[in-house]
Amino acid sequence: MAGLSAFRMRAVFNTSVALAGALSKAPKDKMRLAAELVSKGATMLAEPCPQDGGVQVRYRGKVYCTSHDDLSTITASAAVSYDTVVAHMREVLLARLNETTAALGTERDPGRQDQLVSLAAKYFELLQKLPQK
Ligand SMILES: [Zn+2]
Repeated sequence: MAGLSAFRMRAVFNTSVALAGALSKAPKDKMRLAAELVSKGATMLAEPCPQDGGVQVRYRGKVYCTSHDDLSTITASAAVSYDTVVAHMREVLLARLNETTAALGTERDPGRQDQLVSLAAKYFELLQKLPQK
């Protein structure tokens, strides 16, 4: 344990050495994932991880340690999230637009019709803004 705390002391006092050391000790896939995150806009932090001295990156407002955090789930979720959300949004908007149109067909109150028409217009506008496949 004495050796580990000595390493931590050095890591605090000599950041660049700690960074280089952590990078050279990191497994190849971790380094590849870290590089992938950086290519997606993550920034490497000068401060090493307070827990294990690993290289830290900031990605989408969160700080991850390239040593002890599972970077593969971060890059995987970042890669699928946009497409998944757009696909889900399209489904929901289509369903709501369909419901609103059906409701409009049977609505007799002009005030309520006005609400339904503006609602349908908003759904329709949003649908058209979604990226087309
Ligand atoms: Zn760490």
